[in-house]
Amino acid sequence: MKETEVTSTCCYCGVGCGVKIQLDKHNAVTVIGDGEHPVNRGKLCSKGMNLQYTVNDKSDRLLYPQMRYHRNMPMQRVSWEDALTRTAAVFRTMMDKYGPDAVAFYASGQCLTEEYYVINKLIKGFIGSNNIDTNSRLCMSSAVAAYKMALGEDSVPICYDDIELSDCFLVEGANPAWCHPILWRRVEAHKANHPHTKIIVVDPRKTDSAAIADLHLQIQPGTDMVLNYAIGRLLIEQDDIDHHFIAHHTAGFEDYKARVFERTATEAAHICRIPEYEIRQAATYIGESKTLLTMWTMGLNQSVKGVDKNLSLINLNLITGKIGKPGSGPFSLTGQPNAMGGREVGGLANLLPAHRDLKNEAHRREVADFWGGTTLSDKPGLTATEMFKALADGKLKAVWILCTNPLTSLPDTRTVEQALEKAKFVVVQEISNKPQTLAYADVILPAAAWAEKEGTMTNSERRISHLHKIIDPPGEALPDAEIICRFAKKMGFAGFDYPNTEAIYKEHTRLTARTNLHIEGLDYTQIDKHKTIQWPYNKRRKIGTTRLFADHDFYTPSRKAIIHSPDTDLRSELPDAAFPFILTTGRIRDQWHTMSKTGKVSKLKQHISESQLEIHREDAERLGVTEGQLVEITSRRGNVRVKASLSTSIKPGCVFLPMHWGKLGDTDLHRANNLTNPLLDPISKEPDFKFCAVQVVPY
Ligand code: SF4
Repeated sequence: MKETEVTSTCCYCGVGCGVKIQLDKHNAVTVIGDGEHPVNRGKLCSKGMNLQYTVNDKSDRLLYPQMRYHRNMPMQRVSWEDALTRTAAVFRTMMDKYGPDAVAFYASGQCLTEEYYVINKLIKGFIGSNNIDTNSRLCMSSAVAAYKMALGEDSVPICYDDIELSDCFLVEGANPAWCHPILWRRVEAHKANHPHTKIIVVDPRKTDSAAIADLHLQIQPGTDMVLNYAIGRLLIEQDDIDHHFIAHHTAGFEDYKARVFERTATEAAHICRIPEYEIRQAATYIGESKTLLTMWTMGLNQSVKGVDKNLSLINLNLITGKIGKPGSGPFSLTGQPNAMGGREVGGLANLLPAHRDLKNEAHRREVADFWGGTTLSDKPGLTATEMFKALADGKLKAVWILCTNPLTSLPDTRTVEQALEKAKFVVVQEISNKPQTLAYADVILPAAAWAEKEGTMTNSERRISHLHKIIDPPGEALPDAEIICRFAKKMGFAGFDYPNTEAIYKEHTRLTARTNLHIEGLDYTQIDKHKTIQWPYNKRRKIGTTRLFADHDFYTPSRKAIIHSPDTDLRSELPDAAFPFILTTGRIRDQWHTMSKTGKVSKLKQHISESQLEIHREDAERLGVTEGQLVEITSRRGNVRVKASLSTSIKPGCVFLPMHWGKLGDTDLHRANNLTNPLLDPISKEPDFKFCAVQVVPY
């Protein structure tokens, strides 16, 4: 490797592709795929291939701290000392007057593990509140809860190499061809080399992923559980279940059987609005295959029934015994690059480090003793949407937002704007001067971006990678972890004097000792030596773990996997005469989240350059809407005005909007989340992004 070259990991999706970053004499970087990386073997998708432009273009970067004493005043440049002294004074005042739950941190699945760790330690261990949540709540929290309920812990059992070992893929509520492209290239290549491999895609839209499927089940949105139960019933009727595995390694099968036999395949087909033979074909493919890799992402997670939907899919692995074996298992595709790393350190409102349980007194004491701060509160913190509601209600006084853009990404965003207006004190820690949250900030802290700081991330297959720094951040910007540690010291808290980032990492690994995700003993040198490593880490043998539950010893108290059988009642906002369409939202191929980075790259706008409403031709004709015509979409919460894109790929009665566009100049009329519903899954608290009732009219 050249001296001016470091290895890193792409900072976008949870696939976690390895890259090499090279620096030239003009301080410009070039990013190429890392040919030796086990995930991508040198390949990158369009977003990864254009990373260098986002690093080299510093035109939008925040360069120095700023603050103001009143929202009507302009922001003034200040020193780090002044910004952090004032922030610490305001936080201290709020805590003294209203208690520790008056303050909160709202972070991101794009934070590095070390950053998550120090934020979590600060608020839970020293401020004495559990008010830390991240945009992972909008992403993976339903999968996390379902894994915990079914397998005993938030543990993705598979490894990516299972792709090449599988002969049957059931992909539900996911479009990996666009959203996890490099992983999907592996599925495509495997299918090309092994044509007998079956791919079943379940999606209300004919996506690029569905294009290579042997079977595309174009179900009505919200009916995934009905479909999964129907497939479960057929597998039982066909006797394509693993009786020995069910008897010895699971609990709950009899209740499950009773549940799935409540409805016939004919009735399920009617509800899902697909032909019955397609459900039977899916069950036949699964029954005849030796393996089963179930893959899913936001289509299941982002739902008022998100946890139940996850469980209904995981059940198919459990009743067939296709888990913990090569080519088989439930495989949640992580949306963000380090959502899993955040969960490892306990960086959500209801978690403690190393997947410890906030409700468990012994766990709380263990962590409190380790940190040596205050006693840990047993009161769950505010989750993402709850946090902004509490700001609006005046219960939460101060919020610190870092590495995320809630005014584009949270549901019912106009209400979130009102919440931020009411907040007594808002800190925004950011790399870019573009996010709309800056307009509501009292203090702005400039952060270092990818390649300007060091740390670790964990991808969808539990693979930890070490991201190296190659350039200094511009101006006075600092790494996020350093900002948090400087603030903690200003607050007078001990335990934040780390000599370097690796010291934070090592402290985190010590907290994982004797837990199911133990990585104690792992350090940057070991990660670099192996290139990447999958947890849990075997300290004695100095290796990671590719696949979990090969011994069928699950992490539940009974050591058995639990087959849950929740009801299939749809609790979403149903269409009616006033709002007759179902709106679903999601990503497009070449943009990432709220476009702070990918929006800077002109090449990435060539695919789809503006927000458009995908609507079925039949629906458009009925409404008198033509291709490219401006339409107004309204829900009970707000409106959007974009051009119509006519299609036969979407289920009639459904419309689709991309989630990326926020407020542009003075208009917020491209922002899909003006319309979405803040209804939450009762367990995971994940919003119902994929289902709300809207009206569409020509504008
Ligand atoms: Fe980056 Fe994901 Fe693309 Fe890989 S697949 S290059 S991790 S965006």
